[in-house]
Amino acid sequence: MTGYSNLFCPLDIGNVTLPNRILMGSMHTGLEELGDFDRVAAYYARRAEGGVALMVTGGMAPNVEGAVLPGAAGLFTDEDIANHARVTRAVHDAGGRIAMQILHAGRYGYSPECVAPSPVKSPISPFTPIELDEEGIEKQISDIVESARRAQQAGYDGVEVMGSEGYLLNQFLVTRTNKRTDRWGGSFENRMRLPVDIVRRVRQATGPDFMLIYRLSMIDLVPDGSNWAEVTKLAKAVEDAGAGLLNSGIGWHEARIPTIAASVPRRAFSWVTKKLMGQVGIPVIASNRINAPEVAEAILAEGAADLVSMARPFLADPDFVRKARDGRSSEITPCIACNQACLDFTFELKIATCVVNPQAAHETELVYCPAGRPKSIAVVGAGPAGLSAALVAAERGHAVTMFERAGEIGGQLGMACRVPGKEEFLGLVRWYRDMLKLRGVVVHLGTEPAAGELTRFDEVIVATGVVPRVPDIPVEGGCVVNYADILTGKKVAGERVAIVGAGGIGFDVAEFLTAERSATVDLDAWLDEWGVTDPEVHRAGLAPDGANPTYGRRQVSLFQRKDERPGKRLGRTTGWIHRTSLRMKGVRMEGGVAYQKVDSEGLHITRRDGGREVVPADTVVLCTGQLSDRALADAMVAGGASPHVIGGADMASGLDARRAIDQGARLAARL
Ligand code: NAP
Ligand code: SF4
Repeated sequence: MTGYSNLFCPLDIGNVTLPNRILMGSMHTGLEELGDFDRVAAYYARRAEGGVALMVTGGMAPNVEGAVLPGAAGLFTDEDIANHARVTRAVHDAGGRIAMQILHAGRYGYSPECVAPSPVKSPISPFTPIELDEEGIEKQISDIVESARRAQQAGYDGVEVMGSEGYLLNQFLVTRTNKRTDRWGGSFENRMRLPVDIVRRVRQATGPDFMLIYRLSMIDLVPDGSNWAEVTKLAKAVEDAGAGLLNSGIGWHEARIPTIAASVPRRAFSWVTKKLMGQVGIPVIASNRINAPEVAEAILAEGAADLVSMARPFLADPDFVRKARDGRSSEITPCIACNQACLDFTFELKIATCVVNPQAAHETELVYCPAGRPKSIAVVGAGPAGLSAALVAAERGHAVTMFERAGEIGGQLGMACRVPGKEEFLGLVRWYRDMLKLRGVVVHLGTEPAAGELTRFDEVIVATGVVPRVPDIPVEGGCVVNYADILTGKKVAGERVAIVGAGGIGFDVAEFLTAERSATVDLDAWLDEWGVTDPEVHRAGLAPDGANPTYGRRQVSLFQRKDERPGKRLGRTTGWIHRTSLRMKGVRMEGGVAYQKVDSEGLHITRRDGGREVVPADTVVLCTGQLSDRALADAMVAGGASPHVIGGADMASGLDARRAIDQGARLAARL
C-alpha cells in the first residue's frame, strides 16, 4: 500500500499504457559525448530498473548548427544509431521505456555557426546567430525530422521535441527573438509555423504509434515572451499536428528568475501547468522542483497535471519510483536541488553526477559489492564525509560504529539547514538519520573517542571535519563572531553587520541575516519577491513592477580581499541567484579590500587606491574559510595507527559536500 493512488494509477497514451505517472525528465550527463555507450546504457537501464514509467534522454543535436556546443552528441551516422540501439535495448530489457529528446539550441549554441530566426544575440551567449533564410529553415526542419526517424530506427519509444527554455523553437515563437517579416515572423500564426510544422512532419515520418512529446514553454519569464493566449493556441496546434504528450517548460535560460534552484519553492510552477488542463485532449506533464512522491501526488490529486516530470531526483536516487511504490519513501535519497554536480558539472564540461549519489553516471565504475570479509569499522565524525562512508560500508555488510562529538549528526549540513533557501538540507539530514538506523550503524552522539579507544576496530575512518579559520585581523573592541556561531543559533548583536569573507558561507550568512523569513516555504511570497505573475494577466509571467523583495532591517556588508566580483566563484548555475538575492536585499558587496582592524566603531578597511573606510558594524562575522581538524588523526598516527582521513579533516581548502560524500563513498567501497 503506497498511499500514492494518483501516482501509481496507470495511464493509457495511445498504444502504450504507462504503469505510473512519473516521467524522468531530460538531463544532460555528457556520457554520450564520451562515446562510452556501455556506460550510457548502464545509466539509463539502472533508472528503468527503478520503475519509472518513461525516461527522456539528454538533448541530442539534430545537426551541427543546432548543437549546444561543438561536438554535442546526435544521431548523425549509422554508428550513432547502433550505439543508441544498445541503450534502448538495455532499457527495454530492464522493463523501461525511453524517448530521445531532440534539442536545437538556436542562438544558445556556443558556436559562431549558431542560427536563429533573427540575428539577435542572447544575453548569455557571446555569439550573434546567423539569420536563417527560407532554405536554412527547411534544413532545420528536415534535420529534426530525420533525427526523429533515426531515433525510431535506434529503438527509442518516442521523441521529445524541445520547444521551450529559449531554444530555437521558442526563439521563433516570440517577438523578442523573431524580427522576421516573412511567413515565419510577424503574426503569432506565422511565428508558431516552425514548431507546428516540425511536429506535423515528425508525426508523418514516424507514424501513429511513435510517442511524440512536445516540451512547451508555459511561462517564458523574459520580456516580450508569450502570453497565455499564445501558449494555449500553440498547445492546441501541436496537439492537432500530432503531439501525444505536452511537457512543461518553465522560463528561458536567460530569464533572471530562478526556476529550479533550491531556493525555488517545491512545485513552484505547477499552477501554470494546471491552467492548460482541460484546454487540450492529450496528457499534460508538470515539471520543476518536484522532488518527493508526496509533492508529485499532490499535483496529480489537484488535477494540475496528468503526469509529473522529475529529472535531478533520478540522479539522486534511481530507485525513487520503486521505493515510493513499496511504501519506502523515507529511503529515497533526496535531491537537494543544489545543481552542484549535475548542471554545474555540465557547464564545466565534466560528466554530470550527483552530490548525494556519487554512483550517478558512474554506475559501471563505482560499485558497492558485498564485503568479502565483514570488518568492524569506526567512523569518527558524522558530517557528509563520515555519513557517506558509514552508509556505504554498512550497505556492504561491515559492522559500523559512528562517533559524533555534537548532539546531532550532519556537521556542516546541519548549518546549511538554517539558511533561507536551503531547507532541502533538512530532508537530507533526516534521510541520513533514517538510513543509519536502517543499515544498523551504531551511532554515539556527544562522544569524542580518544585515539587509544579506537584500536579495537579493524579500520578507523577519521572524518572530524573542520574548524573555522580565524584570520589575522587585530581586534581592538567590538563584537566578532564566526559563521558557525551564527548558523548554530548565536544571537547577532545590533543591526549593522560586516561579513569578512565572501565565499559560499559568507553569502549564506548574508542571506541568513537579511531574510526576515524564507520565501522558499511560501510560494506566494516567493512569486512576489521575484516578480512572477500569471501569464494570463501579464505577458510571459513578468510582474510589471518587477521584483519585490522582503528583507529585515539589518544593514549587511560583505567583503573579500580578492579584487574580483564577490560571488564570482559560486556555482555556475546558482551564483547569479545568490548575488541577485543579496543585491535585492540591499547587501553591499565589495572585493579588493584589506582589513586593518575591528574596533567598537566597526570594520576598518583599505582599498588598493589607498582609500580608507570604517564600515560601521555592531557585529563582524568571520566567514574566512576553514582549517582541517586533524587532532584525532595526528594522535592516532603518533600512536602507530593508520586511520583513513577523509572530508574536511583531509583537506579543508575548497571543501564541499560533493567531494566529501564522494570521498567517503569511494573509500568505503574499497574497504
Ligand atoms: P571559501 O569559499 O573558501 O571562502 C572563504 C572566504 O574567506 C573567501 O572569500 C576568502 O576570500 C576569505 N578568506 C580566506 N582566508 C582569509 C584570511 N586569512 N583573511 C581574510 N579573509 C580570508 O570558504 P567558505 O565560504 O567557508 O565555503 C566552504 C566551502 O563550502 C566552499 O567549498 C564552498 O564552495 C562551499 N559552499 C558553497 C556554497 C554555495 O555555493 N552557495 C555555500 C556554502 C558553502 P579572500 O581570500 O579574497 O579574502
Ligand atoms: Fe540534485 Fe544536487 Fe544531485 Fe543535482 S547534484 S541531482 S541538484 S542533489
